[in-house]
Amino acid sequence: MAFISLETAAARLGVSVSYLRDLIDRVDRIRTVLDPDAEADFWSSKTAVIPQRDLRVYTNMIAQRRFVRFRERYADVLVDGVELTCGPGWKSLLDRVAERIRWMPPEWCVRLRKAREKSGYLVLGFEYDRDRPDAYNELERLREEVRLSSLAVCEECGRSGRFRYSPRRSLTLCDKHARLSEPVLPGDGVMADPASDGGR
Ligand SMILES: [Zn+2]
Repeated sequence: MAFISLETAAARLGVSVSYLRDLIDRVDRIRTVLDPDAEADFWSSKTAVIPQRDLRVYTNMIAQRRFVRFRERYADVLVDGVELTCGPGWKSLLDRVAERIRWMPPEWCVRLRKAREKSGYLVLGFEYDRDRPDAYNELERLREEVRLSSLAVCEECGRSGRFRYSPRRSLTLCDKHARLSEPVLPGDGVMADPASDGGR
């Protein structure tokens, strides 16, 4: 079996080494990284290698995280260069938003401008005809509906999750991915919505 260094792998994947390390940790694959230097630490090692065949796995994961297929499938309801900065677990929420836009009256000229994770929930931005109060009202409803839904879906894997209150990074995660926002703050588990329960 052929192995390649993390540096080479990152270059081949078109990402930085720190992005690749973070990805490997997120998807729980640190154990697949080998290091001839037994003392080396995963986060700083210069000698770590991965099986070359894993490149394909990471290529797919990166495409998923960039929502490559979503961008193609829903190009008609997205602005060019739409900002999609949230985890792959929220893909079903993005699908829901895109489908809803398709059902809106064409004269509203609605397109998704951004979908961004903020303080643990999904924030949406739209382009639309600003002279249409009916469009504004419907989009405000959709925005709030999706924001509340996102507070129950793990941003990493899409399973049921809850808001994790953390000083480092508040996120909505399932029990399996809860470690990504550890350590949590007092109030974690009580606060379900940082926007209405008085978060930071
Ligand atoms: Zn999860």
